[in-house]
Amino acid sequence: MAQEVLPQLLEQRVIRYQPPLKREDLEALIEKHKPGWGKRADERRAEFVEAQKFAENSSIWSEVKPVYMALQYNKCIYCERVLGAELTGKSEHDVEHFRPKGRVLKWPYPSRKPRVSYDYDTGPGSATGYYWLAYDIENFACSCKGCNSDRKRDYFPILRTRGGATMTITELNSSESPLLLFPFGANGDDPDAFITFTGVLAQVHPTARKDDRNRAQVTIDFFSLNDREELLADRARVIREIFKTIRLSQDPDPAMRASAERDIKIMTSDASPQAACARAYLALAKAEPQKAWEIYVDIDRYLTPRAR
Ligand SMILES: [Zn+2]
Repeated sequence: MAQEVLPQLLEQRVIRYQPPLKREDLEALIEKHKPGWGKRADERRAEFVEAQKFAENSSIWSEVKPVYMALQYNKCIYCERVLGAELTGKSEHDVEHFRPKGRVLKWPYPSRKPRVSYDYDTGPGSATGYYWLAYDIENFACSCKGCNSDRKRDYFPILRTRGGATMTITELNSSESPLLLFPFGANGDDPDAFITFTGVLAQVHPTARKDDRNRAQVTIDFFSLNDREELLADRARVIREIFKTIRLSQDPDPAMRASAERDIKIMTSDASPQAACARAYLALAKAEPQKAWEIYVDIDRYLTPRAR
């Protein structure tokens, strides 16, 4: 991506915090990165719509992967893990289709998620999937292999009715009520409104409404946000660092305090790893310092053997 475009876009906090990235801005970024790609994508979409299915020998979405990587600060859209950067790290990112392009399988799949069940239906499967969205730029995001290949696969749980062919993303969102959060673009969700953290553990935000609570819980279950050691360790390291920086922000030396306050801002900004967890811990440290201390002690114990 052209270096002169990125800084101003990164200012927009585009992992669907405010303001969300508009479709035309995303189109412009893609055109700048890969001139003519949008036209080629449109031609492919027309073929799939004509055939009423997704079928092609080789895909072209990886050509625009760096645009998404940069917009997401090289983090996975679902789990906030930091992945490789554009120069040598592209292979760590999958271009993920939020709505599956070729088919939809029923989720939860009992043999893969035996402990997960809900008192509501999570939608039927679909033999054709969302073939008309295979090249929709608002149906793409970058994700890690743990989230995409191991978990997302061809699943797309919904709360209401599975949408029909050629419906737009806006129409689909309103008729389907997707159960997974998708924190990207103008149609995306603000994850901070759905999910918060206590220590390293993700939990449904206490102020979320009923349907939103379902979405938050399914997203936590679906991506195993509380069962993956790489995520727990990442969050633990972030909390340990922020705890120590908060202490430094009370140092008698004003230069040290200023430096610590700047670091806290960076650690809780979208560009940093596990930023949602960092923000939740900072809020806890202000509201309930004793609880924050207890969490820190647990985390320090958890991390120490790994440092040997
Ligand atoms: Zn991930």
